[in-house]
Amino acid sequence: CESLVKIYKVADLEVVALQGLNFNVEQGEMMAIIGNSGSGKSTLLNILGGLDQPSAGQVRVGEWDLLKMSEKDLVEYKRKTVGFVWQNNARNLIPYLTALENVEIPMMLYGKSDRKKAMELLEAVGLKDRMHNKLHQLSGGEQQRVAISIALVNEPQILLADEPTGSVDTKTADTILDIFRRFNKEFGLTVVIVTHDPSLAKKVDRVIAIRDGMTVSEFLRRKEAGDFDQNPDESHEEYVV
Ligand code: ATP
Ligand code: MG
Repeated sequence: CESLVKIYKVADLEVVALQGLNFNVEQGEMMAIIGNSGSGKSTLLNILGGLDQPSAGQVRVGEWDLLKMSEKDLVEYKRKTVGFVWQNNARNLIPYLTALENVEIPMMLYGKSDRKKAMELLEAVGLKDRMHNKLHQLSGGEQQRVAISIALVNEPQILLADEPTGSVDTKTADTILDIFRRFNKEFGLTVVIVTHDPSLAKKVDRVIAIRDGMTVSEFLRRKEAGDFDQNPDESHEEYVV
């Protein structure tokens, strides 16, 4: 993204959510965007996912130029390229259906339901034994893992995850991050995680911090677990891990 600006218009008011944000993610990278509530994280993710358009700036994802795409290409992009883990999963999952059914339903949108594949996805996120449970019988962390399976139904190249560990304990958060890392390593899945939790930074390749819709600091680059190479030109004291 380059010089990304997003202004929401609400009645006569203008809310500036992003003000000239520059942001880059490499293919096959796992990165985190951290920032406080209201800093523009979800706005950025929605734009990357093709769900919303910026007021100004450029957005390119691989070959795609998101602002110059035809409607048809945009639909194609959303269907084939991106997977989304939403900030509020509870709203998008169906409590009285089983975990398996929750994964099968979105598959129908992509053609036909494939029970075997749905089971494999749930197994991959560690829910082999719970897939026949109704969703409301699962813990928050387990529900979150169902949501991750759903995000991977279309075998996306990029996974956009909005606060994927927002409502779970540290141990579950680690499990979720490990799942992302496994898909990242095995399938080269690019992962962009949005969070207000700086401790997640330990598990990703790179972090950018945003405040008031602007990049305020880059980057912590992961060499090995727990070993960071800090960019000396940038100050990120708030987020030093
Ligand atoms: P959180 O951590 O609380 O989820 P966030 O970093 O994801 O916050 P955004 O949801 O991107 O923040 O919001 C950035 C700013 O834009 C906020 O001031 C918010 O009130 C405003 N905003 C977000 N969505 C809309 C909308 N649809 N209409 C108007 N204003 C919006
Ligand atoms: Mg948000």
